Amino acid sequence: VGPRARHASGEHHLTVRAGPLAAGEVVLLVDRRGRRYLITLAAGGVHDLRGGRIPHDVMIGRDEGSAVESSRGERVRVFRPTLAEFVLEMPRGAQVIYPKDLAMMALWGDVYPGAAVVEAGTGSGALTMTLLRAVGVAGRVFSYEIREDFARQARRNITRLMGEPDTLTLRAHDIYDGIPDAPMDRLLLDLPEPWRVVPHAAEALRPGGIWVSYVPTVPQAAQTVETLRAARAFVLIDTFETLLRPWNIEGLSVRPAHRMVAHTGLITTARRIAATPAGEPS
Ligand code: SAH
Repeated sequence: VGPRARHASGEHHLTVRAGPLAAGEVVLLVDRRGRRYLITLAAGGVHDLRGGRIPHDVMIGRDEGSAVESSRGERVRVFRPTLAEFVLEMPRGAQVIYPKDLAMMALWGDVYPGAAVVEAGTGSGALTMTLLRAVGVAGRVFSYEIREDFARQARRNITRLMGEPDTLTLRAHDIYDGIPDAPMDRLLLDLPEPWRVVPHAAEALRPGGIWVSYVPTVPQAAQTVETLRAARAFVLIDTFETLLRPWNIEGLSVRPAHRMVAHTGLITTARRIAATPAGEPS
């Protein structure tokens, strides 16, 4: 059963399946050297692994973590990908937000089960999927994108992993023009000029609502913070970056990995305040 068929049978898309692997599911093959291959299982399908063949039928019905061999004797293990693994391996139109930043944006943005959340731009859908997970079956995610080609790729990625969640609304919309879905609990932005969204965010976010924006450069972050301050509708304005340093742990070689992702982006969070009642000092 594919994601759609599973939904029809009453199982929710946002639920990660356990149990034996089924046709229609996306899986990750991991070889001995840690190389990863993302494939969608199909009855009768064949995966070509560096010239060796792995029939999908030897994986369908098996448990996650099973080892399978290609016709050239290469061994891989098969798992359902985590969301972070899926995001790193899925086809991208727009540049995705890295898992280390997705994780921080979800928690620092306090994206909670049942929240109504607006996001722009959809890009490749990495943040969209993170938000769908975080808001759960009772939440709503509204995602805006101006480029049709990116929106199409995002939809393909989301459907491949999650089917068609009824908690998601994708819109072809320029968020610099406004936020048609309101009131919102949370707002998350990954686009070039987030400061242009500040007036719309002040309108659309409920009191206590949270702003989260992600930009690659310092001038962008500075302009965002200055615009948030000047709007007088936000407090608790903070900016940070996340450095994730992997470690090598092998015998006596216990040390940081030689390589890390040195820079991705700066994350700014802010909190919408209540409107000041007439006659009270602001
Ligand atoms: N966060 C996404 C990547 C977004 S890339 C992910 O993790 O996959 C930035 C996207 O914003 C691009 O697709 C771009 O087309 C879109 N974009 C730029 N300006 C926009 C605007 N004003 N309104 C909506 N989308 C916009």
